[in-house]
Amino acid sequence: MGSQTHQFHIFFFPFMTHGHMIPMLDMAKIFSSIGAKSTVLTTFPNSQTLERSIESFKNQNPGADIGITILDFPCAELGLPEGCDSCDHVVSNSEADSEDLRCKFMFSTKFLKQQLEQLIETVRPDCLVADIVFPWATEAAEKYGVPRLVFHGTCYFSICASFCIALHKPHKKLASSSEPFVIPDLPGDIAITGEQLMNIDEESDMGRFMKEVMESLQKCYGVLMNSFYDLESAYADFYRNVLKLRSWHIGPLSLCNRGIEEKAERGRKATIDEHECLQWLDSKKPNSVVYVSFGSMTRFTNEQLIEIAAGLEASEQDFIWAVRKEGNEGGKEEWLPEGFEERTRGRGLVIRGWAPQVLLLDHQATGGFVTHCGWNSVLEGVAAGVPMVTWPVGAEQFYNEKLVTHVLRIGVKVGARKLVRRVGDFISREKGEKAVREVMAGEEWRRRANELSAMAKAAVGEGGSSYNELDMFMEEMKMLRNNKEM
Ligand code: UDP
Repeated sequence: MGSQTHQFHIFFFPFMTHGHMIPMLDMAKIFSSIGAKSTVLTTFPNSQTLERSIESFKNQNPGADIGITILDFPCAELGLPEGCDSCDHVVSNSEADSEDLRCKFMFSTKFLKQQLEQLIETVRPDCLVADIVFPWATEAAEKYGVPRLVFHGTCYFSICASFCIALHKPHKKLASSSEPFVIPDLPGDIAITGEQLMNIDEESDMGRFMKEVMESLQKCYGVLMNSFYDLESAYADFYRNVLKLRSWHIGPLSLCNRGIEEKAERGRKATIDEHECLQWLDSKKPNSVVYVSFGSMTRFTNEQLIEIAAGLEASEQDFIWAVRKEGNEGGKEEWLPEGFEERTRGRGLVIRGWAPQVLLLDHQATGGFVTHCGWNSVLEGVAAGVPMVTWPVGAEQFYNEKLVTHVLRIGVKVGARKLVRRVGDFISREKGEKAVREVMAGEEWRRRANELSAMAKAAVGEGGSSYNELDMFMEEMKMLRNNKEM
């Protein structure tokens, strides 16, 4: 088939968590909207999360060629509990041993390598964009001469920061893990403490796995980043010049969701009617509501949730609070102070489960965002021009907090001192109240957040930096394919 007629075909293969599947699906939509054929590879239960979103995208873009291919993931055979073919499921359905289970889940994904190879062999896509946590995907693609791109899920800033720390190990030279140090080599004099870092023992299974991940990064064709140049130009340059890795920044990816339906269908089904939410927000003044959410993986204790509720009540701000608490249905809710919803009726909305986050952030009444600093949430907040209260919990979230508060200066820290996976460092109601009041009153933060939002929109618009990078990336990929065909 001639290169002029053959539609460019890309496989997108995200890790099975919301924080990875949602932006990768956005990416698949973007590529299909510029004429490529996008196929998302995932397991059956995860396909259910993505399907509605694809449908509403197709309603808006009838010509778009985008679909899902299901991979088989036999949990029982792999020694995982039934239904554990999504990492969110692993986290929410296990308590004490969840960390072991999470690692086991991550390592088990290697089982998918053979299916990936078979698919590449039969379908012959022109390019594979696979998640950073699938290091074996590079080899699978290489076997058939298909370029493998990595999707990282985070920003340049945090990758560069963790690279500098891994190289110099400054925290190992200090007596206490609570003592701050400036990250060596990294532009911007960024101070952090040892207890805010993910400390992975190099000799552990996870340590070895991470080594494999880093090696595959060196061997892949390049990286597609969910970011834009003006947001973190010093770190994009550092990444390219010092880490010497190829990358194309094509974000914010979430901006591809335009209509109400598309924004509301992102991720799993929202547990609240989006029109009801919008009506509620419509009745509020511009920038008067604070939206509170801690992403898809955080599971606070009842004590912490009670403090959050009390802090919100004391702040006297209007709020929307999305709470991901299993066992929300029926019975006494021990995580809510007695009479909380009656007292805050009219000024507060509690969403038990999944919130249509982008829709809420984009509403003009939303004027603040209390966030755990997952990268998608941060970037969605930036795109919407909303200043933030940063409340990092785990993963690379403490780095993201530094970017928001120290580099971009569009928010205040709630005061989390150390990384505690899933449950976070305990934060008192007084600290929560103070940070919410500060961010809602801070005109400087709001002004800068609005400027960044305008830059984000310009970046993905015609002639913008992300738009151009996407174009350059596609040109290079097509040239590669044409050379291969000749
Ligand atoms: N999200 C959502 N509704 C919720 C919780 C999360 O739409 O109630 C989306 C959010 O918009 C983001 C993703 O889920 O796109 C979460 O990714 P992030 O990197 O912020 O955090 P993670 O869940 O990976 O910790």
